[in-house]
Amino acid sequence: MSKIYDVIIIGAGPAGLSAALYAGRSRLSTLVVEKEIDGGQIVITSEIENYPGGLEHETGSSLVERMVKQAERFGTEKVYDSITEVSLNGDVKVLKGLKAEYRGRAVIVATGAQPRPIGCPGEREFIGKGVSYCATCDAAFFEDFEAYVVGGGDAAVEEAIYISGFARKVTIIHRRDELRAVKSIQEKVFANPKIDYMWNSVVTELGGDGILSSMVVQDTKTGETRVIEADKEDGTFGLFVFIGFDPHSEIFVGKLDMDGRYVITDENMKTNIPGVFAAGDVRSKSLRQVVTAAADGAIAATQVEHYLRSM
Ligand code: NAP
Repeated sequence: MSKIYDVIIIGAGPAGLSAALYAGRSRLSTLVVEKEIDGGQIVITSEIENYPGGLEHETGSSLVERMVKQAERFGTEKVYDSITEVSLNGDVKVLKGLKAEYRGRAVIVATGAQPRPIGCPGEREFIGKGVSYCATCDAAFFEDFEAYVVGGGDAAVEEAIYISGFARKVTIIHRRDELRAVKSIQEKVFANPKIDYMWNSVVTELGGDGILSSMVVQDTKTGETRVIEADKEDGTFGLFVFIGFDPHSEIFVGKLDMDGRYVITDENMKTNIPGVFAAGDVRSKSLRQVVTAAADGAIAATQVEHYLRSM
């Protein structure tokens, strides 16, 4: 029989790492199960400007590195495995992974979210061959090339500014005629001479011979389409997609109450199942930021302690 942990945290993004820190400090036996790499979405964020106390020019990965070290200082265990099945009712929760089975008296779901694809023909084919969801990872490949950014929220606009440090020209393609991003970020982008806009536009198809070299863009008002070709000498361009995120909640469908695909909790991060908590971007809430994920994790771990004491 595998060890029964006090709490198992699924996901090592800011919510999971913060929960691990608080659980570890409370001397709960804690296991963090991470599917891929520590940090979740923020490792692909080029600059974190709004995490209180963050360093100037803080990158997502530098912030995560410190979070991981801090959680490890308090003795939390970590495994890299993908949880595929969960049994959450009962006093001991059982999580089945690809590599092993894990058991805990409480579970914190901190599985986060993943970048949403456009969903148009050609998109999958050209991932890594022109299409990217990570400016930090891929912007340097487009040094002195043209790049396009799809989206109009904080992520699209911030990453467009970052990409403009590499590409010779960046065009933001947005489906409406105004940005959703916060005003301070908008002021920065509108002052950037290398960034241009295609308003009321959506990308409907991507093409190329092994590498992205053309795309069809449709006007959302008139329905008219036009083909954008790569500059002849360049042969390609970058297409960076930042149109929001989809929560990683598939394995909880039918088990946890959800708002769409987001897990519903109360303000104490409790889900509908006793002993099961959710924190961070997977949760239904109004503001998805590193700071709110970290706060969720802290609350969830504290509530786990109360829950275990009451058992
Ligand atoms: P978001 O705020 O949900 O914005 C998504 C953008 O993509 C919107 O402009 C939306 O258009 C557009 N969009 C959505 N689906 C689309 C589709 N199928 N085709 C074309 N365009 C589409 O997402 P986000 O920018 O990724 O941000 C996610 C969360 O992280 C937000 O809470 C954001 O505040 C936060 N964040 C914060 C920072 C920061 O504060 N530094 C940085 C990054 C992200 P509409 O506007 O028309 O809906």
